[in-house]
Amino acid sequence: MEHIMEQKCPSCGAPLRFDPEQGVLLCDSCGNRQAIPAELQIGDVQLDGFDFNVLTDHAADEHADALPVYHCVSCGAEVIVPEARITTTCPYCGNNIVLTDKVTGKLRPDGVIPFGIDQKHLPDAVNDFYRGKALLPRDFFTEHTLGKVTGVYVPFWMFGGKVSGTLRFRGETVSMFRQGDYEITQTHHYQLMRDADVTFRDVPVDASGRIPDKLMDSLEPFDMADAKAFDTRYLAGFTADRFDQAKYDVSDRAKRRMIASAEDAVEATLYDYAGIRRAGGELRAMLTARYLLLPVYLFSIEYGGKSYEFAMNGQTGKVVGELPVGKGVSWQYFLLRAGVVAAAFIAAFFTKYMLGA
Ligand SMILES: [Zn+2]
Ligand SMILES: [Zn+2]
Repeated sequence: MEHIMEQKCPSCGAPLRFDPEQGVLLCDSCGNRQAIPAELQIGDVQLDGFDFNVLTDHAADEHADALPVYHCVSCGAEVIVPEARITTTCPYCGNNIVLTDKVTGKLRPDGVIPFGIDQKHLPDAVNDFYRGKALLPRDFFTEHTLGKVTGVYVPFWMFGGKVSGTLRFRGETVSMFRQGDYEITQTHHYQLMRDADVTFRDVPVDASGRIPDKLMDSLEPFDMADAKAFDTRYLAGFTADRFDQAKYDVSDRAKRRMIASAEDAVEATLYDYAGIRRAGGELRAMLTARYLLLPVYLFSIEYGGKSYEFAMNGQTGKVVGELPVGKGVSWQYFLLRAGVVAAAFIAAFFTKYMLGA
């Protein structure tokens, strides 16, 4: 049994691709368009009654079934696809193929945020990103070259969670008043207790071991309002990877983020007190997760004999990556900053001096 689905134009047989701007399957050869039903919305995550223990690891159990070799339905050629890859283009006939065994059963994604930005807008987004970056070498705009761009559906776990528990603090209030010849400082000490019950939804953690976590984290936020129930048609013409990190393996990252946010929210309620110190208590998180494919353009920029890795959020157009730093430029930049600080200091000094005189 072949685990392959073709994405081929029914009129002329040319490959179909998902067109981000029109949100349809498009044939570049004859212009045929196929709408994807709009009712494919992803349901809201059900947050009642879940428990972290319900998370089952389905990374391991389907590994053994993965077929190393597929046969193209159109031309019969043998197609070898990396273990984690869901889609491929037949190198012999150009057919766009989805490897359905990698998206069925326990490996089926719960949803997908389709690409919303076409690759042709990427150079503009990159230029917008550079604008106002003071540290860039002067010749960067004219000298850089955009490397190969890959539109990838990156696997993510979207964690929902409930953080609850009690935190204890010590705090004080300080008041000062005058009584006859005495100035009295009165300090009240308090033991403070806060119960927390905070709900989170859609905290993204990337599920691919091959893409740097930091790069993926900086691509946030993704807007879940555009998330659709999974459908292979959104993948046509793009690269897509399945998860290779189970939700168990990455859930600690989501858990830490949720607990830290909940602690911040609790501490924000203690504004009436000074000298706040933590004095015990603990917050616990219960998690659930959905498996989503999120749209990311990966590309590199060559400059001065070096390659710089970049990524763009394929939904919002946000660009992230490292930038080369020009030596002369950064020197001028810091010199200017130092000059501004010195001027501010001098102004403050003179104001004080004049008031005192
Ligand atoms: Zn066609
Ligand atoms: Zn083929």
